[in-house]
Amino acid sequence: MKKIVIIGGGAAGMMAAAFAAREDAQVTVLEKNEKAGKKIYITGKGRCNVTNDCSDDQFFRSVVTNPRFLYSAYYGFPSQSVMEFFEEAGVRLKTERGNRVFPVSDHASDIIRALERVLRDRHVRFCLNTEAKNIVTKDGHVSGVTAETKQNGRTVRETYDADAVIVCTGGLSYPSTGSTGDGYRFAREAGHTVRELSPSLTAMYVSEDYIKELKGLSLRNVALTIRQNKKELYSDFGEMLFTGEGVSGPLILSASARTGAFLKKGVLECEIDLKPALSQEQLDSRILREFEQAPNRQLKNVIGVLYPSSLTPVIMRLSGIMPDKKICNITKEERTALSDITKHFRFTITGTAGYNEAVVTKGGVHVKEINPSTMESKLIRGLYFAGEVLDVDAVTGGYNLQIAWCTGHQAAMACLAE
Ligand SMILES: Cc1cc2nc3c(=O)[nH]c(=O)nc-3n(C[C@H](O)[C@H](O)[C@H](O)COP(=O)(O)OP(=O)(O)OC[C@H]3O[C@@H](n4cnc5c(N)ncnc54)[C@H](O)[C@@H]3O)c2cc1C
Repeated sequence: MKKIVIIGGGAAGMMAAAFAAREDAQVTVLEKNEKAGKKIYITGKGRCNVTNDCSDDQFFRSVVTNPRFLYSAYYGFPSQSVMEFFEEAGVRLKTERGNRVFPVSDHASDIIRALERVLRDRHVRFCLNTEAKNIVTKDGHVSGVTAETKQNGRTVRETYDADAVIVCTGGLSYPSTGSTGDGYRFAREAGHTVRELSPSLTAMYVSEDYIKELKGLSLRNVALTIRQNKKELYSDFGEMLFTGEGVSGPLILSASARTGAFLKKGVLECEIDLKPALSQEQLDSRILREFEQAPNRQLKNVIGVLYPSSLTPVIMRLSGIMPDKKICNITKEERTALSDITKHFRFTITGTAGYNEAVVTKGGVHVKEINPSTMESKLIRGLYFAGEVLDVDAVTGGYNLQIAWCTGHQAAMACLAE
């Protein structure tokens, strides 16, 4: 009987176990936490955006790093198959804005329970509190995994024999969930290259002092452009949030995935269009209309109709117009300055928040050393990698879990075919 050991009982590991578990295979999952899928609990703010019900093209466009490496894995287990898998496992799903798929219950725990049920039904041996320490190889082939299990205050060391090992240890983000980068060490010890690691899908720090005044401000339907040395790196439209130290929210998280690496070369010039639906001329007419209705009032008492309240003092200061200036005394130049700032609200990004706040880790096991059809190492036979440990990452929207599900599935199917 084939022995398959899976390191990591997260998204990729549990999905790999579900498909590797067949009559002719004995599957063991080693998970260092006291429970399975700790990170899945916190996905989608506890609701788990389990996948994205998108076209194939949309999926590959949403993968930021090495989308082509994922062709075979994704076509082998696309988002529609992931949805079928969970529906069959008893989780009713719903599709929300942007094709994001969630459990109808809005409980991420339903996804974990479903996976646990499938693994139980398929007789997977699940070893909790068991931390893999190293992968044993012999003549260029894996032969086992040495691991330590904590039991009643004692630590028991054991080697699990294996014909195949699937490394599903995740990345470095939210280390409290168990992803502490062990898989990168296993990969290096096996001779693999690990591409530079950095936090991604994360909040970004802003240097301007006024950022503190904007804490808690949430903006919808704004257009964001990020440049470096005047060269445009990114532009998109959506929702963002001011954190007090910087910016966050879906628009910023996705921007961090595409532009975070450029911070090594220097700061990023960020610009928000607060009224993207209006041209500068249309905006100027709108401001003029508001002004004409209240010629004798002070600017600070009129401007509130145009901007959220925490933004108005900042806008007035940046435009250089005194807040108590009477509307009838505001010059055309001053009005232009106001519409200018509204269309080009600028600030400087100096860095990204660390792994404690990052949704995923960018970088990982070099995909050139992994067979994309099987997820098997090209260096060590019987060694497979799946999920975030690989050098693949995507924007938000359910795509990162989709990567974990489909690479886990691909590795499992390949192990069985060997
Ligand atoms: C706050 C947050 C919200 C997110 N929301 C979403 C979302 O809604 N949709 C989405 O698509 N993605 C989301 N993600 C990303 C997604 O959760 C990850 O990309 C995905 O979980 C990666 O799966 P994985 O199996 O590769 O790694 P993980 O899920 O991190 O699992 C790795 C497992 O390996 C175990 N492990 C590590 N080392 C060892 C070892 N030496 N021995 C034994 N076990 C070990 C860990 O304890 C862990 O259980 C979110 C991430 C975060 C942090």
